Amino acid sequence: MSLTMRAVEAEAWKALDTALQATRAPCAGDNAFIQDTFTEDEKTRLRAICGSCPIVSLCDDYARHVTAGFWAGKQRGFKKGNS
Ligand code: SF4
Repeated sequence: MSLTMRAVEAEAWKALDTALQATRAPCAGDNAFIQDTFTEDEKTRLRAICGSCPIVSLCDDYARHVTAGFWAGKQRGFKKGNS
């Protein structure tokens, strides 16, 4: 049985949420990750933080469904130039 996109998103969130309960992500408490816009310097800093994150793969799986913020080393919410 194939999953709907919403079910895939829900499963990805459940996996990430479970990991976040067991692991303190390096972005925890850093409001820079939830901005609407990012400078190149900010993106470089945030990318480095994500690069040390033990749950980056789970974060990336969920982040495919988000439309804003900085997740798993990438700015989300832009059709072109996500980086
Ligand atoms: S990959 Fe980055 S945004 Fe995702 S949980 Fe880790 S530090 Fe936070």
